Amino acid sequence: MESGRGTEYRKRPGESIQHRRRPSEGGERRRRPSEGTEYRRRQPEGTEYRRRQPEGTEYRRRQPEGTEHRRRQPDGTEHRRRQPDGTEYRRRPSEDTGYRRETSENRKPRRRAPEDVLYTQRSEKSTEHRSGSGGYKPRYRGNIRRVRQRNLRVGIFLLVLLVGIAGAVNAIKAKQQEAAAQAYAEQQAKKEIQEAEEKEEDNGLKLADESEKDQWYLKLVNAKNPMTQEDVPEVATETIDANGYQVDARIMGDLEDMFADAQAAGRNPVICSAFRSWDTQEYLYQNKIQRVMAEEGLSQEEAAVEAGTVVAVPGTSEHQIGLAVDIVSSEYMNLDEKQMETEDQQWLMENSWKYGFILRYPLNKSDITGIIFEPWHYRYVGKEAAKEIYEQDITLEEYLGAEPVGSSQAIESDSEEETLE
Ligand SMILES: [Zn+2]
Repeated sequence: MESGRGTEYRKRPGESIQHRRRPSEGGERRRRPSEGTEYRRRQPEGTEYRRRQPEGTEYRRRQPEGTEHRRRQPDGTEHRRRQPDGTEYRRRPSEDTGYRRETSENRKPRRRAPEDVLYTQRSEKSTEHRSGSGGYKPRYRGNIRRVRQRNLRVGIFLLVLLVGIAGAVNAIKAKQQEAAAQAYAEQQAKKEIQEAEEKEEDNGLKLADESEKDQWYLKLVNAKNPMTQEDVPEVATETIDANGYQVDARIMGDLEDMFADAQAAGRNPVICSAFRSWDTQEYLYQNKIQRVMAEEGLSQEEAAVEAGTVVAVPGTSEHQIGLAVDIVSSEYMNLDEKQMETEDQQWLMENSWKYGFILRYPLNKSDITGIIFEPWHYRYVGKEAAKEIYEQDITLEEYLGAEPVGSSQAIESDSEEETLE
């Protein structure tokens, strides 16, 4: 537009000086001296064209299009793939040689390399399937099936394997648990036995040793352990007092000591029965039968049963082995429960164990001894056993671990009635 105005001034030549007087606007002057400036100005318009050329850097970029290719070359292998078409084959040679052989036929299966291994194996097996299917697609589908089937088989196999392993592990665990439970049960059983033993010890139940049971002074004689006439041990007896009562000679010392100490304590107990021979016991028993028959009008068999409840049947009395002594108070000589109330009996019951004697048929023990309470019948068992039996408040049967006789046939007395009148 400005150049257009300038052109108008130049068309008026006379006024051109006026134009020079306006030097301040000099930018335009220089362009005026040469009228062709317009042309030149147009040339510079071409400059625009030149300027466009530099702007055409795009154009330069377009010229070396190969440059782009070069830039891409270093970036990626893609460029190499495009230049030599066969290069693709070169890349894949890294895979199996078996795979190469097949590539000559089909490329697609190559691209799915992981499955190919299976594919090649199966294709070698069945050529019929290839020809029958006609193309590689159906073959491929068949292969997929086979692969899936194989995978399925492998999967099932692995599953079965896992189940088997899990089963084995469980079985082992179960066995371990069973073993642990068994060990625990055994431990518990041992504990219970130990506790039971400790309890027994705590109760103070110290019983006779097996070897001790064979000792003569612990010989058990009762209704459940009767003797035949032949079984009765031959006892060397010795007369204990002026009445002529005899005992086993081996207990004489202890018996004498007991009586001496009782008398020293102001007591005066007396013996009313001691050793009885088989004949004596038999006589007592038969005599009792006769008396029952006469007094109660019973038959001999009935009378024998009745007599057996009062007088010990021969073979079942401790008096027959010389270890039993019936002792009563000189102040009260009746054989009944009041006997225990006498001072003489009180002293004997408290002290007899020190000399090896026990009160053999104590109160409330009839179910074990088979004999009613007899606070006069003393039995020698030796000092050790006597102490244990006395302190533990048990019977000879209990001390020996023998079977209780039972109270059903408990006899009233094994004493010699006749001597107590
Ligand atoms: Zn007696």
